Formats: sequence, C-alpha cells, structure tokens
Amino acid sequence: MVSTDLESVDAFRARARAWLRDHLPPAPPPDAKDDYSEQAWLRARQTQRLLFDGGFAGICFPREYGGLGLTPAHQQAFTEESLPYEMPLLLNVPSLAICAAALLELGTEEQKRTHLPATLSGDTVLVQFLSEPRGGSDLAGLTTRADRDGERWILNGSKIWSSGAYAADYGLCLARTNWDVPKHRGLTMFLVPVHAPGVTVRRIKQVTGSTEFCQEFFDDVALGEDAVLGRVDDGWDAASKLLQHERAALGGTSPYTSGARPHLGGDATRLLNLARATGQWQDPRVREDVGEARAMNVVRDQLIAHVSRAIADGSLPPSAGAIARLFTAENAWLQTDMAVRIAGAAAATHGPGDAADTERIGTDYLFRAAWSLAGGSTEMARNVISERVLGMPREFAADRDVPFNEVRRGR
Ligand SMILES: Cc1cc2nc3c(=O)[nH]c(=O)nc-3n(C[C@H](O)[C@H](O)[C@H](O)COP(=O)(O)OP(=O)(O)OC[C@H]3O[C@@H](n4cnc5c(N)ncnc54)[C@H](O)[C@@H]3O)c2cc1C
Repeated sequence: MVSTDLESVDAFRARARAWLRDHLPPAPPPDAKDDYSEQAWLRARQTQRLLFDGGFAGICFPREYGGLGLTPAHQQAFTEESLPYEMPLLLNVPSLAICAAALLELGTEEQKRTHLPATLSGDTVLVQFLSEPRGGSDLAGLTTRADRDGERWILNGSKIWSSGAYAADYGLCLARTNWDVPKHRGLTMFLVPVHAPGVTVRRIKQVTGSTEFCQEFFDDVALGEDAVLGRVDDGWDAASKLLQHERAALGGTSPYTSGARPHLGGDATRLLNLARATGQWQDPRVREDVGEARAMNVVRDQLIAHVSRAIADGSLPPSAGAIARLFTAENAWLQTDMAVRIAGAAAATHGPGDAADTERIGTDYLFRAAWSLAGGSTEMARNVISERVLGMPREFAADRDVPFNEVRRGR
C-alpha cells in the first residue's frame, strides 16, 4: 500500500542525487565483462545493504516489509539518478523484480515479514526454479513432484536454467502435487532453501563462457508447510503472477528495480562508437543502421513508459508487459546483428590490433538467442498478447482438461 504522506518526486530525486554521490562508487564502463563470480555477488549484497541502510531500497515495496512505500515515479527518478553509479544489478532480476514481487503478492503475512526485509537488504537472494530439462515453455507440464508426508512435503525432480542459483538462498519452485487433475490444476509453488539437505546445484557453462545458469537436483528434500507459497494445488495462479513480474522485468516495466535495466536491446551509442572506431562513420549503410537503432531505442523507451502507465492505471491488463518484453527481444536481435555487420570479421576473430569496441560483439551475438527465451520465449509472449491482451481464442492443447497422469509424455 502506498503511503498517503508522500515526499514529492522532485524532493526525493534531489535527496537521492546527493546520497548517491556521497555513498556509491562510479558505475563500471558499459563494455565491462559480465561478472558472475562469488565476489561479485558478495559486492552486490553489500551495495544492496548500503542502499537499504541509506533508505533507498525497495522503493515501491510497502514500508511494513522494509520498503519505502513510494510510487513508480519515485522509482523512475531514483533509477535515472543512479545510472552513473555502481548498483547491485545482479540482485535486480530475478531476486527483487520477480521473486520478491511475487512473494509480496502471494506470501502469508509471516512469509512476507520473514523474507522481504531480508531480500531488500541483500541478506537473502531469491531465484526461480521453474524450467525443467524436458522444456520450459510448457511450464504447466512439469514433472518435479512434491508428495505429502504427514506435516511435510518431499520434493523430487530437477530444474534447469536457473539464473544465479549457485549464489542464492531460496528458490521459488513450482512442483506437481496432484497428478489426478489436468496439468494446470495440480501444481504448488514452494519456497525451497537452496542449501537444504537433498538439493544439489550444478553450474552450466554456456557457449559464451558464462556460468550464470545452474541445474538443480532434488532428492527427497523435506519442506515444511511454511514453504508453500500461495495455496496447495493452486500453483498455476502463483506462477501466472510470478510470470507477469518476469515479463515486466524483462520488458523494462517493473517498478521494483533500481539502476540500469538489463541490456534492453542494445545501446545505439555503442554502434556509433563502433562505426567511428572501424572508420565506417561515412558509410551510408552504417549510418542507416545506427539511425535505425536509435529510432528503435526511442520507440522502446516510449513503449515501456506507455505500457507501464497503462498497466498502473488499469487500462491494460498486467499481461500487457509481454508487449514490451517482445519488443525488447526483437530490438536486441536487430542491434546485435547490426553490430556484427559493422564489425565484420573482427566480430568473430577479435584480437590484438582490432578496435576495442569489437571485443564483445561475438559473444553478444552468441547470447542473443537468450533474449527471445529468457522470461518465456517470444513465441509464448505472442500467445500471451493474443490470448490475454487482445482476447483472441486460446491455442489448441491436446492435454487440456485431461488428468495429468493420463497425458502421454516422453520419458
Ligand atoms: C537468460 C535466461 C535466463 C533464464 N533464467 C531462468 C531462471 O532463472 N529460472 C528458470 O526456471 N528458467 C530460466 N530460463 C529458462 C527460460 O524460462 C526457458 O528457456 C524458456 O521458458 C523456454 O524454455 P526452453 O528453453 O525449455 O525451450 P522450449 O520450451 O523447449 O521451446 C523451444 C522452442 O519452441 C518454441 N515453442 C514451444 N512451445 C511453443 C508453442 N506452444 N507455440 C509456439 N512456439 C513454441 C519456443 O518458443 C522455443 O523457441 C532462463 C533462460 C534464459 C535464456
């Protein structure tokens, strides 16, 4: 709930500007390599603690759970002021923007009081355990199971592609608790301690060299009733709420993060520098690409602002976050492709003597598929827009209304 006695956005902005200048070091250069080391996570937790103690964490989270109870406009002002400084960006997605936001919506009073202040202060890091090795798009078809054992639940199965799980404390884990009902009706969301006995976390090395992702194995992990997030067998509702926060985070419309948004579809200034560094600034084809990239970024920012406002005032449903999410993915592809076109062979072979600006282009290109998969694929985003924003008929599903234990599936 938003406080009725709000500081004006301008006054908040001025206070934030002075505090940031006095407390935070400058941001790393834009072309700095992504750092997923243990030290980077520790530093992010410490910076988050600094923000929390300074009274600038959880701007849109309610005061009773450690936040400031302010509005998205305050958050936007803080984000703008924070761009020149080192911010704990590793904690933004999924911990704050997705998991803490979902906890706020779904948690019991006790869960919220236990976990939200700890998350906003950086003491606790939350991640998502949703996707499974057999596929992530058909989320409701998952087979990780939680079985009742008296007062406890026993969790077995495996999750994959969990960003940052190796550095986390809890995973929001969707598991099947009822096999006798259709797939959407037998799921439950659990808050699983990452270090609980029976949880094994393995890191996955990507083609880019990054080890951000993990796979988890659950072997008879015992969970108490207090681990249930939302209602038993109503996990699809919990997941839908969580996924809305995920689309908002990926599309740039989430009101729960500070600092630069995640790599939202490239940076036209980088293309401009690349054109200069490779001596192609006068080339009409290159100028066209840079112009198009700039125009796309203007559209992206306007779209994010428009969709955020419309969701906030109720004129669009929360699932409209999928519109911005889809656009940012398309824009990311467009701009990584442009960078490769401008850099030419140096994108693949970057070595001594090549312009420094070409260094990350090859790995950005390899990673670009992630922008149309993270937070649900772009195809699934199109389904969400057609079905839930435009009200078009639902996609055919052979397993709809069939009890899950009767659905044919691969081993
Ligand atoms: C950067 C990044 C971070 C991630 N972080 C997490 C995380 O923290 N936790 C987590 O649980 N998961 C995470 N994921 C996994 C992500 O949610 C999945 O990759 C995504 O849901 C797609 O699942 P999949 O990879 O299994 O592809 P699949 O579901 O196997 O899909 C493969 C292809 O088929 C298409 N497809 C599937 N079904 C349909 C359909 N009905 N109609 C049209 N096309 C369809 C898809 O669009 C896709 O192109 C992350 C992924 C990335 C790239």
